[in-house]
Amino acid sequence: MASAYLLAFVFGSCVGSFLNVVIYRIPIGKSVLHPRRSFCPQCEHGIAWYDNVPILSYLLLGRKCRHCHKPISFRYCLVEALTGLLFCLVLHRFGITPATPVYWVLTAGLIAITFVDLDHFIIPDSISLGLLPVGLILSFAAFFYGPFEGLHVTNPIQALLGLLVGWSVLDIIGEYATVFLKRDAMGRGDVKLMGMVGTFLGWELTLAAIPVSAFVGLICYLPKLVTRKIGRFQEIPYGPYLAVSSFVLMLYGDRWIDWYLRLIGILE
Ligand SMILES: [Zn+2]
Repeated sequence: MASAYLLAFVFGSCVGSFLNVVIYRIPIGKSVLHPRRSFCPQCEHGIAWYDNVPILSYLLLGRKCRHCHKPISFRYCLVEALTGLLFCLVLHRFGITPATPVYWVLTAGLIAITFVDLDHFIIPDSISLGLLPVGLILSFAAFFYGPFEGLHVTNPIQALLGLLVGWSVLDIIGEYATVFLKRDAMGRGDVKLMGMVGTFLGWELTLAAIPVSAFVGLICYLPKLVTRKIGRFQEIPYGPYLAVSSFVLMLYGDRWIDWYLRLIGILE
C-alpha cells in the first residue's frame, strides 16, 4: 500500500504541475495546450523537461529560473505538493476503487478554482461548467456499469438533484444577501461551482457543504476582521471556502451526516 501512496503523490504532483499552467493561463485568456511547453512567466523562456519536474526542479534550481535567474514563486511548488497530498488523502479514504480517480478529478478542479479565485476573484466557467458534464457522464457510467464502492452518486437522478440543489440554494442565498447587504453578495461563479460539485457529490453532501463553507470562511475571516486588516464590506473570494468544504465533505461528509442523523434520532 505504501507504494500506492507514493504513486498517488507523484501522479498528484504532476497533475499539480498541470494545474499551475491552468491557474496561470486560463484567467488571462491563454490556451492551456498552446504552447505545449511551460515557460517562465518573467522572461518567457521555454522550460526544459528536466527543469519542469514537480517539486524537485524547484528545489534543485534553487528557486530561481535557469535563464533569467529571477525567483520562481513558491506557489508553483505549493500547488504541486498540495495536489500530491490531497490525492493521497483521497486514496486513503476510497482505497483502490473507481471512486478514487473520480474524486481526483473533482479535487484537481477544486484546487484550480481555489487559486484562480484567490488571484483574480473569479471562478472560470471553463473549469466549473467544464467539469459539470463530466460529473453527469460519470453518474451515467456509475448507473450502467456500477455499483462501484465508495461513489456518492450512483445514478443520473442523484447527479441532477445535486446540480439543482447546489445551484439553486446558493443562488437563493445570494439573492437574499444582495437585498440585505444592498450589493452583489454572491458571485455567479460560486453558484456554478456548487452546481458542478452537486453532480459529483449528490444533493445531501452539496447542501451540507454550504453551511460548512460559511463556518470555514468565518474562521479564516474573523482574525483579519478583528485586527481590521480588511474592512467589513470588502470583497472576499468565497470560492476557496466552498472548495475546501466540498473537498472535506467529499471525504468524510457521509459519516458526519450519519452521525448527525443518529444524534437527532432520525437514524437508529
Ligand atoms: Zn526566466
